[in-house]
Amino acid sequence: MAPKAPLFNRLALIGVGLIGSSIARAARAQGAVREIVATARSPATRRRVAELGLADQVVEGNGAAAAGADLVIACVPVGACGEVAAEIAPHLKPGAIVSDVGSVKAAIVRDMAPHLPAGVHFVPAHPVAGTEHSGPDAGFAELFVGRWCILTPPDGTDAAAVDRLAAFWRLLGANVETMAPEHHDLVLAITSHLPHLIAYTIVGTADELAEVTRSEVLKFSAGGFRDFTRIAASDPTMWRDVFLANKDAVLEMLGTFNEDLSQLTRAIRRGDGDALFEHFKRTRAIRRGIVEIGQDSPAPDFGRAHPGLPAAPLPRPYAASDDN
Ligand code: NAP
Repeated sequence: MAPKAPLFNRLALIGVGLIGSSIARAARAQGAVREIVATARSPATRRRVAELGLADQVVEGNGAAAAGADLVIACVPVGACGEVAAEIAPHLKPGAIVSDVGSVKAAIVRDMAPHLPAGVHFVPAHPVAGTEHSGPDAGFAELFVGRWCILTPPDGTDAAAVDRLAAFWRLLGANVETMAPEHHDLVLAITSHLPHLIAYTIVGTADELAEVTRSEVLKFSAGGFRDFTRIAASDPTMWRDVFLANKDAVLEMLGTFNEDLSQLTRAIRRGDGDALFEHFKRTRAIRRGIVEIGQDSPAPDFGRAHPGLPAAPLPRPYAASDDN
């Protein structure tokens, strides 16, 4: 159900790919903002955003988009956020909320905060939802429904600004949690970044195996490989930036992962069936726990019920959304 009054007058979206265009669609559907101004780096994307009617105005230049906005959300790769903050800073209206959607948070705070003027509220955010698709055509209004959006406001951030951004994300269907940027990066290193790294590795390894032909890999991919290929199709720019920006936490998790992998390797080498069975029993219980708390289900994601959004499945090309 649409709210009585929009939460923000003008929303500026800097970057309109999968996440930016999903925010635009969801904000429209929920009446969360009165007006949307959007920009993207290339003329081709700006043209497509206009064709799709995702914004009331499509402008050239990050500063022009941010001017006069009450809420500015940078929806660009993590490595571009510092540059975006520098460009929008002189154009920001006093009292505006500046946010982002980056999959890494400590680096975003380090790169964006120093550019932002006093009187502007900086509330970094990460909607933990996504797919392996990119660009303005890839977004959909239901992407955030039932997913978490993690806010990581620096110490001393105005509580009312944090509450307003939390209300915005809740209206888009997300559950909101607040945590420190470093803690976010550690949690996401194990739940998202490491799984993506493993997928990128295994798909690359399979491609290099001489004794198994490429056609056999594709033919028998339902044996588990197919799920990895979907994750490994995720945007190369985004994921390059994630690993560069979250280096320490990913390396820490990778160290633990390598130790666990060594234990499983030893169990296989020694024919230790009990060790393998116990390990797989434990991981099966973890999977069941995830389904129980509603973060996955055997049904496609768009079936999730949410007040104000259509309950019936909507036609779209995605089988499920990832937690990125
Ligand atoms: P995307 O589909 O590739 O879109 C990125 C957008 O940013 C494009 O519109 C691109 O414009 C624009 N852009 C890039 N550099 C820019 C710059 N310097 N100034 C202005 N615009 C610029 O990416 P996405 O998947 O939406 O990801 C965006 C952010 O969301 C990333 O920080 C990512 O970590 C985070 N995130 C992604 C997911 C996911 O699953 N994809 C999930 C959660 C969070 P052009 O098209 O003109 O190049």
